[in-house]
Amino acid sequence: MQMQKQAGTARQAGAQPTAGDLALIHRYSRTELPAQDVYIFAATLCDNEIDRDGERFTIEALHTLATLFVGKTGIFDHSGKTGDQVMRVFETWVEESAAQRTADGKPYAALHAKVYILRGPENEALIRAIDGGIKKEISVSCAVQSVKCSVCGKPFAREGCTHRKGAVYDGAVCHAVLEHPTDAYEFSFVAIPAQPAAGVRKNKHPEVKIVPPTPTTHTPAASPQAKSECPTDALQRQLWMPLETEENLAFKMSGVESGRKAGI
Ligand SMILES: [Zn+2]
Repeated sequence: MQMQKQAGTARQAGAQPTAGDLALIHRYSRTELPAQDVYIFAATLCDNEIDRDGERFTIEALHTLATLFVGKTGIFDHSGKTGDQVMRVFETWVEESAAQRTADGKPYAALHAKVYILRGPENEALIRAIDGGIKKEISVSCAVQSVKCSVCGKPFAREGCTHRKGAVYDGAVCHAVLEHPTDAYEFSFVAIPAQPAAGVRKNKHPEVKIVPPTPTTHTPAASPQAKSECPTDALQRQLWMPLETEENLAFKMSGVESGRKAGI
């Protein structure tokens, strides 16, 4: 199975990096960058809400993705072009809210990230667009190992699963449960992500529980060509889930404010 999803938002804009931020950023830069040369923002990459694709991550999957997304690049519209590499994730965390519930009654959780951009003429237009709320929606691309049916627990649409997303069975809406992420590839600014909550954050440190990511023991990711085959409609969150082979992994792209899934 392969899938892509988009769902995220970038909200923090114009923040000066702290000494702690710079220490994390310097893990990726070849030289120590002065604070005035760095622009950072915080983004919600994805959450565990049932999204427009009729799918949701488990909280455990969000924690795994938090580990996998540290150090990953930011581009535009999942272009895959090095020329679009202008951002990099330098910190991630999962926020869990005991008070907020998902549509299916589970505690709400979201994966957030801090991202840095180099200030300079080449990026000032992007920074201005982020500050101005124009560049806001984010989509992430990742791989997951398991896509299960919420009704029968079998691999969705396989092994005898005939349930349909969005249909109601015994009072519960059927959806796909995304588990065991195996890799994270990039995040992108997109126009319409799949997960309404994903995107640029205005508040870098909301007063909610912050759970540091934990190391994952999952297996390595899918083949590179799997990602290149996936549709990259920048306007919506996408879930790409070819069903022909079980050994394929699932790619997911999530973005800032909304998204769509394109099943294959
Ligand atoms: Zn089923």
